[in-house]
Amino acid sequence: MNFLEKRILQDGIVKDGNVLKVDSFLNHQLDIRLFEQIGEEFKRIFKDKKVNKILTIEASGIGLACIAAAKFDVPVVFAKKTQSINVDGELYSAEVESFTHGTKNNVIVAKRFLTPEDRVLIIDDFLANGCALKGLIKITEDAGATVEGIGIAIEKGFQPGGDIIRKMGYDLCSIAIIEEMNSETGEIIFRKREEK
Ligand code: 5GP
Repeated sequence: MNFLEKRILQDGIVKDGNVLKVDSFLNHQLDIRLFEQIGEEFKRIFKDKKVNKILTIEASGIGLACIAAAKFDVPVVFAKKTQSINVDGELYSAEVESFTHGTKNNVIVAKRFLTPEDRVLIIDDFLANGCALKGLIKITEDAGATVEGIGIAIEKGFQPGGDIIRKMGYDLCSIAIIEEMNSETGEIIFRKREEK
C-alpha cells in the first residue's frame, strides 16, 4: 500500500453517492507534507516528459498543482469557473459538469497563458466521471498545446472517467485508485497499480 492509500484508509470517509470525503488532508485542511509526497510522485512518474506548464482546475486542484509545479520548476495555470457563457475571443473555454455539485460551469483559460509551444501536465485531485479532465484536455488542444500526461491523486476506478481518458490514448496515472468503497461499512478497496 502506498503513502496516499494509507492516508485515505486512515482519514478518508466514504459518503453516500459515491463521494469520498478527504477534507482533513486534501480538500479543506491541506497536509502540505503529503502534498510534497504527491508532487514528488508526479515528478517521478512523468520525469521523462518535457513538461513546461501545469494545468489544473479551480478550486481543489490548485494546491496540488502548485506543489507539483515546484518539482517541475514550471508555472501553473488554473482553469477558472464562471457561470457566464458570454466568453470573448481572448479565452479558451469548455463546459464542465461538477461531480460534487451537480452544476455545469463554463471553465476558461486566457489565451495568453496557453500556446502551441506548451507541453502540459494536467493535475487534479480526483477523477470520477472524467468531465473535469475532458474540459482541461479540450482547452489544451484548442490552444494547439500538447497533453504530455495527466496526474491524479485519487481515481475512483468504479466510475467511468479513468477508462474513458485512457481509451482516448492519454498517459493518465493516478496515485491511488479506488476499486470499491462502501458507505455503510466504510470499507475501501484499492486497485493494484501498474508500476511506472
Ligand atoms: P469528474 O469531472 O471526473 O466527474 O470529477 C472530478 C472532480 O470532481 C474533481 O475535480 C473533484 O473536485 C470532484 N470529485 C469527484 N469525486 C469526488 C469525491 O469522491 N470526493 C471529492 N472530495 N471530490 C470529488
